Amino acid sequence: MKPAHKMSMLIYLFIYFILVQNMSSLTARSNPVELIYIKSSKQSNWAYTTSAPITEPPIHIDGNIRTRLRNFRNEAAKLCQLYPETFLSNLPTEKKKIALTFDDGPDSRSTIKILDILEYYNIPATFFVIGQNIDRHREVIYRAIKNGHQIANHSWTHIRPTSVSTSELISEVEKTQAKLQEMGIAAKIFRPPYGLVTPQQMEALKALGYKAVIWSVDSMDWYTSNPQEIAQCVLSNVHPGSIILMHCAGGPDNRSGTIEALPLIISALKREGYEFVTIQQLINY
Ligand SMILES: [Zn+2]
Repeated sequence: MKPAHKMSMLIYLFIYFILVQNMSSLTARSNPVELIYIKSSKQSNWAYTTSAPITEPPIHIDGNIRTRLRNFRNEAAKLCQLYPETFLSNLPTEKKKIALTFDDGPDSRSTIKILDILEYYNIPATFFVIGQNIDRHREVIYRAIKNGHQIANHSWTHIRPTSVSTSELISEVEKTQAKLQEMGIAAKIFRPPYGLVTPQQMEALKALGYKAVIWSVDSMDWYTSNPQEIAQCVLSNVHPGSIILMHCAGGPDNRSGTIEALPLIISALKREGYEFVTIQQLINY
């Protein structure tokens, strides 16, 4: 082969290589909340565990809050290690199953809208409710139960467990649980407001038969009302067994960001083959 031919062969090969390399970016979808954020099975090393590390949100976060979140993740990881059976951040499965969880309800505004969306997509979720609000919104809870959702304990007044005594926490949890029991809910699943308890409190909860369930993926809907950012926080970090933190009440704008992000999140996850479950469906008591 002549040197000139050799050279042109090399150039063709080079161009071909560059084109193949860039094919995926040329065909990527333009919608910012499309599936490009989902990186499946990156967490396969903690399939079947209940203590996946809490993922770091991919959006811009104010420095102080970023530091606080890092500290929280470290503390939560320690509790997961100390109490693998009773302090959980993850569902023990390697299948594409995830739990959407909504905190701080019930109310008669945002919770209703969230229930409408879940009903439209026909998927179950878990609601961690504040005990003192139950009586005022009983019909909302009954509707959620009828639609296959799980209702669980988020304390009576949304206290920060690490700022109160063990007995104060236990009385908050037990008061709420009694209310839930009146409505036929037996599972003792407690989500600590702000995500942490002390080891002493965990021992007391454990002795009473409770499991504390936090999350592995934070939608950050308590921090941003931007639906694109909320969807990004979920879709870029989701993995088989994810427990996803969202809110269905409170907040300055009636959870408009969450309500707008939810259909984006659900449809992207459905397209990716994820199945939605309640906490109870995958955690034994
Ligand atoms: Zn809360």
